[in-house]
Amino acid sequence: MALQVVATPLGNLDDITLRALDALRHADVIACEDTRHTRQLCERHGVRATLLAVHQHNENQAAEKIVALLREGKRVALVSDAGTPGISDPGARAVAAVRAAGFRAVPLPGPSAAIAALSVAGLPDARFMFAGFLPTKAAARRAEIEKLSSIPAALVFYEAPHRIEETVADLAAVLEPQRTLVVAREITKLFEEIEAMPLSAGPAWLAADANRRRGEFVLVVSGPPPRTGLDREAERVLATLLAELPVKQAAKLAAAITGAPKNELYARALELKGG
Ligand code: SAM
Repeated sequence: MALQVVATPLGNLDDITLRALDALRHADVIACEDTRHTRQLCERHGVRATLLAVHQHNENQAAEKIVALLREGKRVALVSDAGTPGISDPGARAVAAVRAAGFRAVPLPGPSAAIAALSVAGLPDARFMFAGFLPTKAAARRAEIEKLSSIPAALVFYEAPHRIEETVADLAAVLEPQRTLVVAREITKLFEEIEAMPLSAGPAWLAADANRRRGEFVLVVSGPPPRTGLDREAERVLATLLAELPVKQAAKLAAAITGAPKNELYARALELKGG
């Protein structure tokens, strides 16, 4: 017997693999986060297994139950509310317990919001770092973004609608403004929206329309720009001024504010303007 770890849809209930359907239809028990949520999926696809709730607060006991069921020879599948179990979702402890008890945990791969967002991000980065949810407190969040800032890879974040504005504001404040931000909202759902923009434009884009702040979000931020002779503060000041002023004036003011060489700022400003 093996625990089948099954990826399920992110929104569109048809996003489920043939193998996942087969595993769910043949399962005696499906361990899931919210039984009401998984019941909808089961009803849609003619799955009649018993549902067992596994969530953040009972994962240890639920893991023991799963092991006991496998010992009885029952077929058990593990799903989460959406996407792939164990990815910013419960699952890891159940998998570890199952393996420690001598059973296998086998993946039935399918949707995951991070991978779906990356597939349409269109960024040049060959690598990505899955950062998941950032801390909810502002100081801790900024410190975490600072830590991630020098990683030479695109960064992938999950965020909830009630924190999307603060998170995008902090990303724009801490990271280089010329990085690209891709907002992937409501992937596979009715109001799906995928939008790419300079990171510095992210806060204004969100503020422009309340609908843009609704739903579930993946944020993808391109990797650090190639290093210039300018430090991050000079880059930040220059990019901010360039949003409002012509190249020459922005470079002159940025030099006065930061003390960085005017000719370097001017060359960089031309680069940023694409000229
Ligand atoms: N296990 C899931 C996966 O494989 O992607 C992630 C679960 S995590 C608790 C939920 C977060 O995933 C949401 O807050 C959001 O950041 C992201 N997410 C899930 N579904 C999404 C969707 N349809 N569109 C955009 N983001 C989504």
